[in-house]
Amino acid sequence: MRKQILILCTALLALCACQHKVSKFEYTVDKFYDLEILRYDVPDFDSLTLQQKSLLYCLSEAALWGRDILFDQNGRYNLRIRRACEELYLNYPFDKGTPEFEAFERYLKRVWFSNGIHHHYSEDKFLPEFDKEWFILACDAAGVVYDDDILPVMFDPTVMSKRMTAQDGIDLVANSAGNYYGPGVTQAEAEAWYAAHKDDSAEPLWIGLNSQLVKNEKGEIEERVYKVGGLYGEALEKVVYWLSEALRYAENDQQREVLEKLIKFNETGDLRLFNEYCIAWVKDLDSRVDFVNGFTETYSDPLGITGTWESMVNFKDLKATHRTQLISDNAQWFEDHSTTDPKYKKEEVKGVTAKVITAAILAGDCYPATPIGINLPNANWIRKEYGSKSVTIDNLMHAYNEAAKGNGFNEEFMVDDEIRNLYEQYGALCGDLHTDLHECVGHGSGKMMPGVTKDALREHASTIEEARADLFGLYYLADPKLVELGLLPNMEAYKAGYYQQLMNGLMTQLVRIEPGKDIEEAHMRNRQLIANWCYQHASGEMELIERDGKHYLQVNDYEGVRGLFGKLLAEIQRIVSEGDYAAAKEMVETYAVKVNPDLHKEVLARYEKLNLAPYKGFVNPVYHVERNAAGEITNVTLDFSEGYIEQHLRYSRDYSPLPSVN
Ligand code: ZN
Repeated sequence: MRKQILILCTALLALCACQHKVSKFEYTVDKFYDLEILRYDVPDFDSLTLQQKSLLYCLSEAALWGRDILFDQNGRYNLRIRRACEELYLNYPFDKGTPEFEAFERYLKRVWFSNGIHHHYSEDKFLPEFDKEWFILACDAAGVVYDDDILPVMFDPTVMSKRMTAQDGIDLVANSAGNYYGPGVTQAEAEAWYAAHKDDSAEPLWIGLNSQLVKNEKGEIEERVYKVGGLYGEALEKVVYWLSEALRYAENDQQREVLEKLIKFNETGDLRLFNEYCIAWVKDLDSRVDFVNGFTETYSDPLGITGTWESMVNFKDLKATHRTQLISDNAQWFEDHSTTDPKYKKEEVKGVTAKVITAAILAGDCYPATPIGINLPNANWIRKEYGSKSVTIDNLMHAYNEAAKGNGFNEEFMVDDEIRNLYEQYGALCGDLHTDLHECVGHGSGKMMPGVTKDALREHASTIEEARADLFGLYYLADPKLVELGLLPNMEAYKAGYYQQLMNGLMTQLVRIEPGKDIEEAHMRNRQLIANWCYQHASGEMELIERDGKHYLQVNDYEGVRGLFGKLLAEIQRIVSEGDYAAAKEMVETYAVKVNPDLHKEVLARYEKLNLAPYKGFVNPVYHVERNAAGEITNVTLDFSEGYIEQHLRYSRDYSPLPSVN
C-alpha cells in the first residue's frame, strides 16, 4: 500500500508546444529512442552574491555525489552494468561506426537516462539491440572484466522485467526489480516488518524511509540503514562533506540549522533528525538559495515507504514568485469556493507557501528527467503542523516550451486554427497557472474525516490524489477570480488550458504507452481519469469528431466543461475524505487504466510522423570555481557547453564512490 502520496509531481509538459520569447540559447542537446535531452539556462545567476554562488556550488557538489545511490536503488545490478558498459565504451578497440557499436552507445545513453536498465517512466526493462555474443567478445577485446551475472539481467527479457510492479494480486516486492528489498524478501514479510515497527505517535518517525529490508541467514528480516558507515555510506560521506562546506556560506541561521540537521541525519540515519530537518526546512522561507538533498519520494518503492535519493538545488525567481504568491495568499478563498462538500473543506488553510525557482543543478531522481514542481515535505503531520513548501521551476518549463516550438504537434492534433491560436497566445501561461494551482492550493486543500488516512485508498491513492489536485487547478483556471487577480488577461485564455488538458488526457498522452499496454503511471492515470470521465459524462460539452480518418477533440461549451470538472472534484474529494477505497478503485479502473486500442493506434501513427520524443531530460551546467591562495572561493561561473555523453562519463569518473555491489 502507498503510505505517502506523491508530492513531487511531474506535470510533464513535454507534449505542449507553447510560444515564448526568442532566445539564442541552444536548448536541444541529443535525441535517442523516445528521449530528448535539453539544456536549461540559469537566468539571473550573475545577479547572485558570491556567497550565494558559493553556496550553490557546494550544494551542487553534494547533489552530484549521490548519483550512484539512485542507480543502486533502481536495481542491484545497475552499477555493475553501467560500469562495464562505460569501460567498454571508453576502451572499445575497433571501429565505432558499426551498427552494433551504435546500438551499444544508444543502450548506454538509455541506461544513464533511466539511472538503470528499466525505462524511467514505464518501468519496463529495455533490451539491448546488440546481441550478447557481441557484448562478450567486445568486452574481451577491450579488456573489460565484468560479473557474469549481469548477462541475463541485461539480455534475458524474463529476468527482472519490471522495476516496479503495481499489478493487483501478485507479490509486489518479489516481482519488482527495484533494490528496496533484498533477494527473497516477500511483500507479506516486508509488510509484517513495517507493521511491527510502525510508529503511531503524534509525531511519527517515517520508519523505512531510509533503509533497505533484507533477509538474513536465519531467514529473518533485517533493516540496512542508509547512512555514513551504513548502506551507501561511501556516497553519503561525500554528501556530508559538501553539505558541511555549504555551511560556511549559509545565508542565515535558519538555513544553517537545515544544513546541520541534514548532515547529522546522514551521519546517523536517525529519523528523529530527519523530522527536525524537515521542520527546519519548511521554516526556511527567507533564503534565496534552497535545496532538496536526500531520500525523498516513495513512488519507486512498490510498498511506497522507502525514499528514492534525489537532489535539486535552486534559487528563488523573484519576479515569477509574485504569481504564485498571489495564489497562495488567496488559498482560503479557493478552499471556500470550491465545489466540494463543506464538511470536507479545511476551516483554515495554512502553511501554503509558494515560490517560483530557478533550478541550478539536478541530480538523483531529478536527473536527467525531472519534475517541474515540488511540494514537500511528505510527512502529513509536518505539513499539518508546520506547512509545506511548494515550488514551480520556471527555467525548466521554459526549456521545454522553447524546445517544442514549431514541432508540428499542435497542427496535427488540435482541431482548428481558433484553438491553436488561443493556445499559442495563452498555452504557456495556462500551463504555469495550472501547475501553480495544483501545487500551491490543490494538494493542500480539503480535509480527511476523523480516523481516515490517505493510506485508505491504497494502490489508488496516488492517482486519486493527483486527480484531486489537478481538478482543483482546472476548476479555478476558469474562474473570474484569476482575471480579477491579474493572473489571466481575460475570460478566453483559460480555454487554451482546458483544451490542452482534455486533449492530452483523452488522446495525446497515449504516445507514451506501447501498443497493447495499460496506463500504469499515477499522473497519466489521473489525466486520463479526468478527461475520460468528463467525456463519458458530457452531454454536448465536448466530443471527439472524425475528419479524414483522424480524431480530434472538439469542445463546444467550455463553461459546461468547467461544470464537469467541478462535479468530479466534489466526488474525488469525497472519496479522499471518506477513504472510500471501493469508489476509488471503481473510478480508476473504469476511467484511468484501459486504453481504446483503435484510438491508441491512430495517435501513435500520427505522432510517429512528427518524429518527436515524448520524454525529455536535461544536462546540467558545469560549475567552474576559482579560488585564491588560501583556498577561498573567489568566483563561480557556469558553462553550458557540455554534451550528454561527456557529462555522464564525467560524473561516472569524478562522482562515483559506491562499490558495484552494495
Ligand atoms: Zn501533484
